[in-house]
Amino acid sequence: QKLVYDFTEGNKDLKDLLGGKGANLAEMTNLGLPVPPGFTITTEACKVYLDSGAEPPALRDEVSAHLDALERKMGKKLGQADDPLLVSVRSGAKFSMPGMMDTVLNIGLSDASVQGLASQSGDERFAWDSYRRLIQMFGETVLGIDGELFSDTLDEAKKTHGARTDVDLPASELRNLVDAFKAIVAKETGRDFPQDPRDQMDLAVRAVFDSWNGDRAKLYRRQERIPHDLGTAVNICSMVFGNLGPDSGTGVAFTRDPASGHQGIYGDYLQNAQGEDVVAGIRNTVPLADLEQLDKASYDQLLDIMERLENHYLDLCDIEFTIERGKLWMLQTRVGKRTAAAAFRIATQLVDQGLIDEAEALRRVNGAQLAQLMFPRFASDVELDTIGRGIAASPGAAVGKAVFDSYTAIKWSRSGEKVILIRRETNPDDLDGMLAAEGILTSRGGKTSHAAVVARGMGKTCVCGAEELEVDTKRRRLTTAAGTVVEEGDVVSIDGSTGKVYLGEVPVVPSPVVEYFEGRMHAGADDADELVKAVHRIMAYADRVRRLRVRANADNAEDAGRARRFGAQGIGLCRTEHMFLGERRELVERLILADTDDEREEALGALLPLQKADFVELFETMDGLPVTVRLLDPPLHEFLPDITELSVRVALAESRKDHNENDLRLLQAVHRLHEQNPMLGLRGVRLGLVIPGLFTMQVRAIAEAVAERKTQAKGDPRAEIMIPLVGTVQELEIVRDEAEEVIAEVEGAYGTSLGLTLGTMIELPRAALTAGQIAECADFFSFGTNDLTQTVWGFSRDDVEASFFTAYLEKGIFGVSPFETIDKDGVGSLVRNAVEAGRATRPDLKLGVCGEHGGDPESVHFFHEAGLDYVSCSPFRIPVARLEAGRAAA
Ligand code: PEP
Ligand code: MG
Repeated sequence: QKLVYDFTEGNKDLKDLLGGKGANLAEMTNLGLPVPPGFTITTEACKVYLDSGAEPPALRDEVSAHLDALERKMGKKLGQADDPLLVSVRSGAKFSMPGMMDTVLNIGLSDASVQGLASQSGDERFAWDSYRRLIQMFGETVLGIDGELFSDTLDEAKKTHGARTDVDLPASELRNLVDAFKAIVAKETGRDFPQDPRDQMDLAVRAVFDSWNGDRAKLYRRQERIPHDLGTAVNICSMVFGNLGPDSGTGVAFTRDPASGHQGIYGDYLQNAQGEDVVAGIRNTVPLADLEQLDKASYDQLLDIMERLENHYLDLCDIEFTIERGKLWMLQTRVGKRTAAAAFRIATQLVDQGLIDEAEALRRVNGAQLAQLMFPRFASDVELDTIGRGIAASPGAAVGKAVFDSYTAIKWSRSGEKVILIRRETNPDDLDGMLAAEGILTSRGGKTSHAAVVARGMGKTCVCGAEELEVDTKRRRLTTAAGTVVEEGDVVSIDGSTGKVYLGEVPVVPSPVVEYFEGRMHAGADDADELVKAVHRIMAYADRVRRLRVRANADNAEDAGRARRFGAQGIGLCRTEHMFLGERRELVERLILADTDDEREEALGALLPLQKADFVELFETMDGLPVTVRLLDPPLHEFLPDITELSVRVALAESRKDHNENDLRLLQAVHRLHEQNPMLGLRGVRLGLVIPGLFTMQVRAIAEAVAERKTQAKGDPRAEIMIPLVGTVQELEIVRDEAEEVIAEVEGAYGTSLGLTLGTMIELPRAALTAGQIAECADFFSFGTNDLTQTVWGFSRDDVEASFFTAYLEKGIFGVSPFETIDKDGVGSLVRNAVEAGRATRPDLKLGVCGEHGGDPESVHFFHEAGLDYVSCSPFRIPVARLEAGRAAA
């Protein structure tokens, strides 16, 4: 197996093997662009090293052969004393991991060759500056020496010489710095700085390999869901110098604006400098356009190359370049990162330019970007100063009064205040407070902390891990690094897209994209937002090609209406338990407490018209579209008072000799219904089988609502009745028989057929495993992947995120919670089997999914491939699901 590729041997499609940087350097080389010669050590070599702790045996010879060839091409040897070839050693993984891994420049300089470089370049200052840079970078990245030891020494030298920047340091002082730096190396490592150029190179290569498993890199990969086993390639590239005087320099450029997508000249240039100076912000750069004045020939050539690159990659490219004494060199290019808004704009611009087609435009954007565009934002001209900054954990903009505990969050929000819940870190006890708050701010924890995970799930803005903020929950205040104290009740603003925290109120503007989906902004209008126009077009492409239909999880007319405006093609899950809350709780209590058939019938009779009215409203909103109504699912105790609260109330009453018969009966019922494991207890179809009349009441409410919509309003209601938590076909048979009886009765009474279908959820492993049998009794399946994930993994869906998921994510057991993205291998394989078995029994079986996964981008692709008919998700995720369904089909 070949372990080293010359730049002339690779191409842009070899990213797995050569990493992004190596593949693109090869591509540019083959395009005839001015790339300094060099070669790439493959990711395979890195993988062997990481697995075995040693470089593959063949690597040394292969590197020697390529180094020989490079030396011949350049007419000088690595580190040659009188005229040294110098190289850079740079990491480059398949996915760009900015700043996460290592780079060493100027390899090949030594006490001897620094002299040669000085005489060859005729610039002593430059030679010594390059040498001190090598020792500094090598010391930091290869030898692991604390970088401050070097930078402090450099700062001191500047101070003593009254030098404003390092360019102002004379050669003699740089020479002293080299001695000082070498002394640091000797002191810190107990060894001298290596003088053999090949040793320098080999050590640097190994350091790059090792940097793959550095803490920063691992954390980044976990957050970005980059697999841990890819390894990095290493690029060895002959050095060109931007620090050879005023006719030299280095810069970065974008072929279009990565923030807006507009075409133009975007980038920064720094005269007389090497690449890391730009990134490090040591001196101020000038806008790229100024290069025209400084070096017109290089500027024109650069613009020409940028155009060629964009036409070649058919996308926005970002570029690193260096000018050495008036000669332009390309050091890197790649398809550039961009903001979510720019992604949509660029995709449509490229279609208009005829560079890509609509299917490709769909591939250029994604659901996560669309979701980002749907959050409200702070107005762009924020005038307040930040008081801290944390991790942008869940996007959006939130403003509210600072509160430091959940109780206050709930109390204040009930009285109409907007609050930001501020905690050191959150735990499950904070859930209600998080729900009540506009946003969540924590001073501890990362992107996978409880606050971050839960906030994202809730769609709440969250900034976490703002470590310079000291949160004192006891005294209800936080103190900033600058000593400002924020008390309970002070207004703060947090930006979940940047992680910035402000004291005071920052004005929030609604997302134009949501305004568009809501129908309050029209993409066709002349003055419509450019972004909205782009989103509109891309959504149209997606809708045109997608095979999956998209429905909503909604249980009231308001959500249903929004879902419809957002493009829902029906309701895939109406959870009827939400219709049992509030004032109706008392009726449910009466049902549970009923001792006799009469009492029960009476309670059910009181619930019937309420349910029916809800359904009438829902069917009206969704007229002409399917609405899947699920019969009652959660355990009944959820509708009863809390056991502790009630016990206290009863005990207090007893002590006052004040008997409350109802409370006593309630308490008995609570005890009777108490379950150790309610999620595995009396819920779903089991309730329907055990509480006489409950499901038939619901079926009657649905049937009568359909009948009334049809006969009285001349509407087109399309209801589907869904039975939850079925594990065996026998359960379904019993419920179905009873339901059909009721439906027939209502049809008779209204003199019309209702076209009702009856299906089940597949949310237990046994149901999935016996799907062939269950299909005999079901018109449709809807995969309840929340419960299916819970039961397949044996994870309590309500507890795990808070208890051990953070540890699991940190250990890389999974990159993302299986409750968020479908576990294809486990849960997914049950889904596939059930699809196949169900369709084998009943070819026209309708198949959907209504678990949270229905709105998750990656999962939508899975459901497309599994051959489902639709996904159903919360109203706000509908556009994302539409887009991803389109991308899956494109
Ligand atoms: C499910 O289990 O996936 C589902 C949709 O039902 P619920 O979340 O209401 O249990
Ligand atoms: Mg469920």
